[in-house]
Amino acid sequence: MAFSIASSYNKIRSLVESASDDVLPAPSSIAKVTASLPSSLPVTGLGDAATEAHLLNDITPGFNGSKIASNYYGFVTGGVLPIAEVADNIVTAFDQNVQVHLPDQSVSTVVEDKALSMLVELLKLGDGWEGKTFTTGATGANILGLACGREAVINHRRAGKPGVGERGMLAACMEAGVKEIQILTTMGHSSLYKAASVIGLGRNSLKDIPFSKHEPWRMDIDSLEQELKLTDEGVVSIVALSAGEVNTGRYATNEKAAMKQIRALCDKYGAWLHVDGAFGIFARSLPDTPEFSSLISTTAGLELADSITGDGHKMLNVPYDCGFFLTRSASLLSSVVGNPNAAYLSSGPSSVPSPLNMGLENSRRFRALPVYAVLLACGREGLGEIFARQVRLARAVSEYIYSHEGYELLAQAPLSNKDSSNIRTWYEDTHIIVLFSAKDDRVNGELVKRINSTRKIYVSGTQWDGKSACRIAVSTWKVDVERDLELIRSVLDGVLQR
Ligand SMILES: *Cc1c(COP(=O)(O)O)cnc(C)c1O
Repeated sequence: MAFSIASSYNKIRSLVESASDDVLPAPSSIAKVTASLPSSLPVTGLGDAATEAHLLNDITPGFNGSKIASNYYGFVTGGVLPIAEVADNIVTAFDQNVQVHLPDQSVSTVVEDKALSMLVELLKLGDGWEGKTFTTGATGANILGLACGREAVINHRRAGKPGVGERGMLAACMEAGVKEIQILTTMGHSSLYKAASVIGLGRNSLKDIPFSKHEPWRMDIDSLEQELKLTDEGVVSIVALSAGEVNTGRYATNEKAAMKQIRALCDKYGAWLHVDGAFGIFARSLPDTPEFSSLISTTAGLELADSITGDGHKMLNVPYDCGFFLTRSASLLSSVVGNPNAAYLSSGPSSVPSPLNMGLENSRRFRALPVYAVLLACGREGLGEIFARQVRLARAVSEYIYSHEGYELLAQAPLSNKDSSNIRTWYEDTHIIVLFSAKDDRVNGELVKRINSTRKIYVSGTQWDGKSACRIAVSTWKVDVERDLELIRSVLDGVLQR
């Protein structure tokens, strides 16, 4: 049969829809796929039809179900909402290059700008986020956040001179009397360490200032002030708040008052305040009901940051790759990533800045469109309802684990902080992540392997308090609380009985 994109797409959909519920491919399928790969570049191409058959029949059986299965709880992956998939196919089919704002030639930059401003509304961040861009993910956004921080904290001490983006970091630091730039965090995501290396601060510049052994995700504000005071000795700081932290889902701050305090300290000592909210920032978009009031008050005040990282391909359930970066100062952002001296790229004065002056890339994918489609199709209520189901499942799993004799629920704030007469308070802090271990050490050592080898659910392994731990992250739009709880219970009960 002749090759056509349309019939090809029907074949893709029927493969996805007939895929089993298994979250991982069978080990034998992976081996078969690997064996089917060509040994080298073919001299004479196979042609479209044969290549299509190879992709569909040989390659796809080797894929995992991370984005299409209902019960993949590894990492934080999200799923793909159907309308996001449609939008993503439009993106590929029309392949707009969203780098220069050319409003007479393509509406893509205007749609991207609209998607970004609707995201700011979804997250209830208020006005003033003039610098905003889609990135390839939270890692790209964290690179921008730290780069803006570097620019701001050095320029702060040498006002009126050309910025770091012009002078370069070494010369600017000398002029400013800066001998060290430190990044203050609590359990910062690994990508912050990568970002610190990329922008020349170094991975060693991250410093953890935990509130306590029992709440290591929470920032200790007294230690923060001690660190910020080092500015007098030429040590300047970027504060990078985990919101939420990837192992526990918990937040570096626990209420608006804490954010206000941190904001005031950053202003006093000339520090930059960045929030890594890859998935956790979306707790602000939960329905405003008593059920979620604890998470909503925990995440209050994050809008006081100078810059914010978020992910699209996690909670928003759009395809890879998509993240976003927001900052209050468009001019600061463009002083870091501006693409100067290319007259042919100029778009003239406009309310929509050209993306090439707001982000890392020049030529770039129209990755805004799936986000635009999801925001439009679901609206605030529809997304709130998806986020609510995810939290309900995570809380139901927490309760199950808490009362299970074979398991231990980890990363709980000390009971003394809580109303001990009300067991619900244990779970109210749960967002979408549940961290736990098996009480029997022998079982615990192989718990993740036992669970994942069922291929019914997939979980991530991590370390907690020096021991192996297991982590469930609920992030797909497909959550059905009762159905999924039942499956998780049966897998977790089952793996103890071996
Ligand atoms: C996932 C995650 C990142 C990295 O995001 P990518 O989209 O994989 O680049 C950074 N920070 C946090 C808190 C995350 O959860």
